[in-house]
Amino acid sequence: MEIYCDNAATTAIDPEVAQAMLPFLTTHYGNPSSGHQAGRKVKLAIDQARATVAGIIGASPDEIFFTSGATEANNLALSGTIMTYEISHVITSKIEHKAVLQTLAKHEKEGDIEISFVKLDERGNIDLYHLENLLRANPRTLISLMHGNNEIGNITDIHAISKLSQRYDAIFHTDTTQTIGKLRFDLKEMNIDFLVGSAHKFHGPKGVGFIYINKNQRIKAQILGGGQERGQRGGTENVIGIAGLAKALEIANRDLAANHNKISKLKQYFISKVSIAGIPDICYNGESKSVENSIAGILNVSFPCLSQGSIVKKLDQQGIFVSGGSACSNLTTAGSHVLNAIPCEKDKENVRFSFSKFNTFEEVDHMIRSISRIYHAEPSALLHAAASK
Ligand code: PMP
Repeated sequence: MEIYCDNAATTAIDPEVAQAMLPFLTTHYGNPSSGHQAGRKVKLAIDQARATVAGIIGASPDEIFFTSGATEANNLALSGTIMTYEISHVITSKIEHKAVLQTLAKHEKEGDIEISFVKLDERGNIDLYHLENLLRANPRTLISLMHGNNEIGNITDIHAISKLSQRYDAIFHTDTTQTIGKLRFDLKEMNIDFLVGSAHKFHGPKGVGFIYINKNQRIKAQILGGGQERGQRGGTENVIGIAGLAKALEIANRDLAANHNKISKLKQYFISKVSIAGIPDICYNGESKSVENSIAGILNVSFPCLSQGSIVKKLDQQGIFVSGGSACSNLTTAGSHVLNAIPCEKDKENVRFSFSKFNTFEEVDHMIRSISRIYHAEPSALLHAAASK
């Protein structure tokens, strides 16, 4: 039995999505920039996909631009804004995705910007008072704060940030890669300038994503070429991927409430089962244990160190696929920048379980049995020591 419980890393393609992509792999292969019928047919499909995405997030189709994924979309939003508007100050947090942090670090190194990191509380939540103070002190700021954290699942109050951004005349970029198709939001109710998504996080294909660029913003393209995507992103469009992205988002949006309900229950079931599995000293990182304050599918757990080896690797050997964050000091894995930025118990093995609509309660039972077996094979003195800490 194989169990895939790493859905924050990527998800399985929904069979309905695969069906929607098929015609563009076989019959409809025209270049959307070609003026003939074969090209026009494909261009129409891209326009329909654009309208689908726009409709779901409350944008207008001319505010949606397809990219190769969220990494590219984040790069475009940040570098494009910094270079177009000569922004010299950016507010972000230490727990953003590397696609954001590394792009900003590059601009800082090149002398384009100064970065202020907003304070986080002990669970990794944004300190909105500190954010407001930073905004008050720094005119013409770009804010880059993610909606849902990919490691600890924290959900940021983007409504509140959008209000602050408007009040202080800032530009607001938010990475919604982990929340698109999972949490409902409407851009008509918020003042967001840039927002990004990636199809493979919501049961679509890899290598395709999108950026929403508010109609009041036009930024310098970062990939130059044939002027595709209305000049914002050169390169022949990934038509197959775009068809899959739109179908995947349509399905995610259609089934959002049912999926949220099922996935939340899977997480709660895991928490209740693991708490009675006889493993001492487990703790949860960020808000991931909370039903209200975290992405339904993400659970970030710290386990006591094993006397030898890693729990993530032992689970992998048994066909259970989960993600590791930071590791015990007897292992050599580099720590997670997210967990390093919040007070989290050190010298524990950190594991991210991330559930999807395709996971089952039987799989949770199986995972708990496997974890329990791993710990019960440990020398009893070690478990005792962990329990009495
Ligand atoms: N931002 C976040 C929050 C993510 O979780 C990821 C994927 N791990 C990315 C950006 C990058 O997405 P992509 O794989 O589409 O480049």
